[in-house]
Amino acid sequence: MVKQTIQIFARVKPSVRKQQQGIYSIDEDEKLTHSLEIVLPRDLADGFVNNKRESYKFKFQRIFDQEAKQEIIFENIAKPVAESTLAGYNGTIFAYGQTGSGKTFTITGGAERYSDRGIIPRTLSYIFEQLQKDSSNIYTTHISYLEIYNECGYDLLDPRHEASKLEDLPKVTILEDPDQNIHLKNLSLHQATTEEEALNLLFLGDTNRMIAETPMNQASTRSHCIFTVHLSSKEPGSATVRHAKLHLVDLAGSERVSKTGVGGLLLTEAKYINLSLHYLEQVIIALSEKHRTHIPYRNSMMTSVLRDSLGGNCMTTMIATLSLEKRNIDESISTCRFAQRVALIKNEAILNEEIDPRLMIVRLQKEIADLKAELAMATGEQRTEALTEAELLQLEKLIASYLEDQDPESRLEVGADMRKIHHCFHHFKKLLNDKKALENTVSSEVTQQACQEPLKDEEYTKLLGLLKQRDNEINILVNMLKKEKKKTQDALQYSSTEKSEAGPPQNSTCIAGSPADQRTSFSSAPSQTQDLSTYKHRSTLLHKKAGMREEMSLGRQEAFEIFKRDHADSVTLEDNKQTLKQRFSEAKALGESINEARSKIGQLKDAINQRHLQQVALGISENMVPPSMPDPQEERLRAQLEEEKGRYKTTFMRLKALKVEIEHLQLLMDKAKVKLQKEFEAWWAEEATCLQVNSPTSNLQDAEKPFPRQDETKLLSKKSSRDLEVENGAGRLDVCDRNARRILPSPCPPCPNQHSQEPSGSRAPVQDRPISSIPLTGDRQTDSDILAFIKARQSILQKKCLGSN
Ligand code: ADP
Ligand code: MG
Repeated sequence: MVKQTIQIFARVKPSVRKQQQGIYSIDEDEKLTHSLEIVLPRDLADGFVNNKRESYKFKFQRIFDQEAKQEIIFENIAKPVAESTLAGYNGTIFAYGQTGSGKTFTITGGAERYSDRGIIPRTLSYIFEQLQKDSSNIYTTHISYLEIYNECGYDLLDPRHEASKLEDLPKVTILEDPDQNIHLKNLSLHQATTEEEALNLLFLGDTNRMIAETPMNQASTRSHCIFTVHLSSKEPGSATVRHAKLHLVDLAGSERVSKTGVGGLLLTEAKYINLSLHYLEQVIIALSEKHRTHIPYRNSMMTSVLRDSLGGNCMTTMIATLSLEKRNIDESISTCRFAQRVALIKNEAILNEEIDPRLMIVRLQKEIADLKAELAMATGEQRTEALTEAELLQLEKLIASYLEDQDPESRLEVGADMRKIHHCFHHFKKLLNDKKALENTVSSEVTQQACQEPLKDEEYTKLLGLLKQRDNEINILVNMLKKEKKKTQDALQYSSTEKSEAGPPQNSTCIAGSPADQRTSFSSAPSQTQDLSTYKHRSTLLHKKAGMREEMSLGRQEAFEIFKRDHADSVTLEDNKQTLKQRFSEAKALGESINEARSKIGQLKDAINQRHLQQVALGISENMVPPSMPDPQEERLRAQLEEEKGRYKTTFMRLKALKVEIEHLQLLMDKAKVKLQKEFEAWWAEEATCLQVNSPTSNLQDAEKPFPRQDETKLLSKKSSRDLEVENGAGRLDVCDRNARRILPSPCPPCPNQHSQEPSGSRAPVQDRPISSIPLTGDRQTDSDILAFIKARQSILQKKCLGSN
């Protein structure tokens, strides 16, 4: 059992403004205690209340300032938790802070760069790397991804998620067994055998979350997301299984309802916007008070799900994310205060071991058979009837697997039956004679050499085996890269051409959901090969996109191109496309260099072989005993061989790492494309409404109403939404998000009072026609009407801008 208080860390989000200076400071005293001091700016502290404190000091395990990179966060915060999960303990990492303070960035990562990947992808990478290294245990990994919005749970990995509104989805519900263990009904578990599969599940869940989100539910700031890695391990032959769960939690924004300014409600217990955060605080308060017997876990779904992580069997870590700008001081202080309470909670993590009854039965059955056989031997009751065909076959299978087993400790268990023991001896004798006969057919020269150099021969065989294995691995990798490249090219081509030529893959079901009444759905989890899983995942996303595209008319597609051109994310998409291209050519170069090393290894091996034969031949012809001194030429060749092998290995590892990066970039791009499409749909609908309003009877003045207002114009410059959000302050992300969706086709802000310059005339090109001349087909506009409307407005704006310049 490991007793530990919840570890608390703070991370300060980078600010583009100098404003943060002087607002906070980070200290480390001689006892290595880290403290964060938040200083109230004078204009805030001297507000309504005279005795207001001027600074607040909070202790944390560690504080990561603005420049802390994702790698450092992973190494210091997540890696120790992942390690304890691998050792069989439950672990939880949750990010807490106001909207825009960097929770999602910390837990999942940024959408732009590979280096921005957050705790989840890095943890997955680390866990799978460790599992690969540890051959003494058998591991099984499953993933689940739960979203809690408005006290209801939704399965983010349910295939229905992407197609439905949040409200229409089946709900994940909580069941409590008599031992008060929590079970989640309707939450599917998906097996992941590789890092790539697990990463696909993460992106699938994130994309599903994005698609199901509507401006009405604002799920991204108001919901909690719990990504869980379920790890079970057992030693071969043992019936004891260890289970550990690692929850990686991105909580809803912790901002309070009323933010009337520092003078008013500052530092008072204002209500959370999100009720379940209020209950979380209640639980934390109850747990931090020593004599409380009742902890109100049941009040909310989130506290029920995380019950073990809060005051139970878990190693828990909290990351307080802070956006330390003047306007966010009160929220930042609330976050820190919450963290201080959390730090008082002590958890007791135990190893979750249990006996697997099925394995136990197999073991007991074998024991009974052994005991029976022993008894028969002891009582002298020997069986004399001949072994049946089936028994003989079974026995030979046992012998074959015994001989193949590399483990020197392995045993051939045939029981205390003399007939079987005799048969084994016969079989071994036969095998030995067969081998001898085979050896006699091999040329005497080789035999002689084999006798003289038994060790070296063995070494060659090993090397040959290794080469074959590497060859296979390379072939698999190269094939995967080829496929990935083709898929990206298809996807890129598809997004850049007007008509999608590639039809959607037929198989659109990515992952089977669990049966409705089953909590764990191990049987429904796909245990496919790596390639298949990637394909399935990608095909789902592409299918969806292609589906959306197929429905588009030409007019809509043209509008999509206009929208895409001026969308802030298209810069990121373009960047990622370039990076991807670069990575592909790097991978190609590495592949070539691997091939080179491989053929060099082959040549060196041949050269060493040749040298051997020469030496042997020399020995025979001159009737000399082979020299005991090592042959310098051979030594040289061997050194070269080692060097080449080293080069081969490092290049291979680099290629492997590159593959993970390529995969990640592709997933980022897939996600960005789906987002773009979704935002386009919203924008298109808005334009259609706008055209309806601006019917031919309306004047141009009206037509400009939906153009960006003052703050929206910022979005027209090609800035990422992140930059904007940083500028606007953390508390306003939701506003920004909404604005980001309203990106308008023209890169120019509107210029007032220049309507009169519009050209008119029915023969003018579409974009030069006045809006009032765009025909309406009855009550409903056609897609080409909307396109004409968009183009006309764009042209007006461009002219105005030219005029004002
Ligand atoms: P939250 O999830 O808390 O609402 P996000 O993680 O979405 O906040 O962060 C808001 C914006 O700030 C995002 O655009 C994100 O990329 C950016 N951001 C947050 N933290 C960092 C950081 N440490 N470094 C760089 N960008 C960050
Ligand atoms: Mg977020």
